[in-house]
Amino acid sequence: MITITSDFECGNAKNVEQIADDRYRLEVIGDKPVYCYYFCFDVKNEGEATEIAIEVWHDPVIKDVPGFISHFPTTIWIRPEDSHRYQPLVLGDCETHAEHLVIHLPIAENQTIRVTDVWPSPYTDTCEFLRGLADERSDRCELFTLGQSVQGRDILGIRAGNPGKPRVLCIAGQHPIEFPGIWGMRGIADFITSLIPEAAALRDELLVEVIPMVNPDGTVMGRNGFNAEDKDVYLAFGDDPEAEEPEAHESKLLWRKALDEKPALWMNIHCYLGWRTNSEYPYDGWYEAPVSLFDDPGQARLYQALCDTMRLETTGPSTHITAAAHGENTICYQLAKRFDIPHVFYEINGGTAGPYGAGRRALEVFKGTMKTLLHHR
Ligand SMILES: [Zn+2]
Repeated sequence: MITITSDFECGNAKNVEQIADDRYRLEVIGDKPVYCYYFCFDVKNEGEATEIAIEVWHDPVIKDVPGFISHFPTTIWIRPEDSHRYQPLVLGDCETHAEHLVIHLPIAENQTIRVTDVWPSPYTDTCEFLRGLADERSDRCELFTLGQSVQGRDILGIRAGNPGKPRVLCIAGQHPIEFPGIWGMRGIADFITSLIPEAAALRDELLVEVIPMVNPDGTVMGRNGFNAEDKDVYLAFGDDPEAEEPEAHESKLLWRKALDEKPALWMNIHCYLGWRTNSEYPYDGWYEAPVSLFDDPGQARLYQALCDTMRLETTGPSTHITAAAHGENTICYQLAKRFDIPHVFYEINGGTAGPYGAGRRALEVFKGTMKTLLHHR
C-alpha cells in the first residue's frame, strides 16, 4: 500500500488521490501567481518494491499555469528516510507536460522517500546549526535574535566580528521555501566563524550578522512567498512604497533593525528554479536598484563598485546576463532611497544547487563584496 503525505515541517501537497494502479495525482499549494511551484511530500510504501508515477499539478486556486510550469524542468530531489542527504532523481524520470509533471519513482519494500523540488533547510535544523556554531565557536561568534515571528518562533542569527567596525547584515528566507538562499547564508555563517585566514581578517574589520531565515513561519508551513499573515516579506511595502514601515511583521523587524543600526551593507539571497528560459548553467541571477537613489556621492560610488563586483566577480550573469530591477516597494530600494544604505541581492538557482552549490555561490558573493566594501570605505 502506498501513502502520500505532506503534514510535516516544510511539507507542501494537497488533494492527493490514486487515479490508477501505481499512479497518483496531487496538487501543489500556492500563495499567488508565480509563487505556486513548491512541493515536498513523503511517499510511504508498505509493501513490495514497486515503481509508481506521481502527477504533480498546479494549484487550481491560484490558476497560474505558466507561472507554475515555468519553474520546470528542474532537479527533483529525493531522500530515502534513512539517508542524511537528498539526491537528484534521474533526469528522465520526471516528465514536464504543459500543465503538470509526472515523476516516476522506484521505491523499495517498506521504504519511505521524501520528494521535493527544493532541497529543504527546515527551521528546526537551521536553528540547530546556528546553536551548534555558537556553542563550538563561542570565542568567535554569538547567537542573537531579530525577534519573534507572528507565530512566536525565534528569528535566529549569528554575529561575528568587531563591534567597533562597520556592520554587514546578511539575510535570506524572505520567500520562505527559497532554501538555496538559506543554505547560502548557512555557508556564510560557517565561513565567517571559521579559522580560515580571510575570515579572521574580516572579523577584525567588520561586524557581520547572518540571519538565514527571516520568515520561519512561512518555512514551517511550506509556503512559496508569504508569511503567516499572507504578506510578501520581499515586496515589503505592498502597494504603498512611501509608507512609513513595511507591511509584514517580520519585515518591520528587519526594517527597524536596519534603521537602528544603519549597516554599511545588507546582503539578501533568494532562489528560483529551472532552466527553461535561462541562458547558461548554473542559471543564477541578481537584482539592482538605480544608483541615482543614493544622495551621497561616496555611497553612490560604493554602490556602483558593488554592482561591478556582482556583474564581474559572481555567477549572477549566468541567467539573463544583466541584472533584474528591484521594485520601489522592496526594502532594498527604500533603504537605498531613504538612508543611502547599499545592498547586494543574489538569486541562486535551486535546480543546480543543494547545500554545497548554494554555499559556494553565496561565498563568492560575500567574499567579493566584502573586499569591495572595505576598499571603498
Ligand atoms: Zn524570492
